[in-house]
Amino acid sequence: MATGTTIQSLFFSGGAGLWRIVSRLPDMIWPRLCASCGLEARDRPGHVCWDCLSAMEWVQEPFCDGCGDPVYGTVGHVYRCSFCAEHRPWFDRARSAARYRGPLPALMQAFKYGRAVWLTPDFAAMLEACVRAQWPNTRFDAVVAVPLHPRKRRERSYNQSQRLASALARRLKTQDMSRVLCRVRPTTTQTGLNARQRRANVRDAFAARHRDWIEGRVFLLVDDVMTTGATLNACSRALKKAGARETHAVTVARG
Ligand SMILES: [Zn+2]
Ligand SMILES: [Zn+2]
Repeated sequence: MATGTTIQSLFFSGGAGLWRIVSRLPDMIWPRLCASCGLEARDRPGHVCWDCLSAMEWVQEPFCDGCGDPVYGTVGHVYRCSFCAEHRPWFDRARSAARYRGPLPALMQAFKYGRAVWLTPDFAAMLEACVRAQWPNTRFDAVVAVPLHPRKRRERSYNQSQRLASALARRLKTQDMSRVLCRVRPTTTQTGLNARQRRANVRDAFAARHRDWIEGRVFLLVDDVMTTGATLNACSRALKKAGARETHAVTVARG
């Protein structure tokens, strides 16, 4: 069984060798600044410095086997939180790389609302480390982004989850099949809603298309942040109803 520490160790083991040397060359001319603290981001690829990465709270075991919600203390058996025990989620497992704390909220806000799309590789590296640590033996047929409603997509000009899904698909050498899922109903923001309201807000908001592409396949849903999991659950439901064999979910951050 992989441990949460492995997410961290896999993340930091990336970018070794030749990349490390090549990535330093432009820095000598034009130093990269850390997107979080503004200081120089030396000695590693990406836009977040070592100090800020060290300040991330990486998700570690123990956590719920279903939704991946971390629990404090020691759990000696396969643990399911009371929420997953009561309302069995439609996703098989959900996992996140780090807690939505420390430097992460400001970075995610810049990525989502501030057009900081150049942070995509930093977040994709976190997602990849999480997937390799938590699903070491699973071969995903495709990754799927949580879709935005077309109206919101026009307002924002890009879907941050789609950016993450495309980048992650390339890293995992699988396909991005995000077009199988669409948002058929605009929803209000989940911020400020309780768990019950969040479930009601996204109920029947998603629909699956191209059933023949979905049937019998194993999917990995990708989003930026997971709070109660209501959105990922509604997406998983649409895919499962359309015949998906398994749906798993991965996010950069866990609220
Ligand atoms: Zn920094
Ligand atoms: Zn749970």
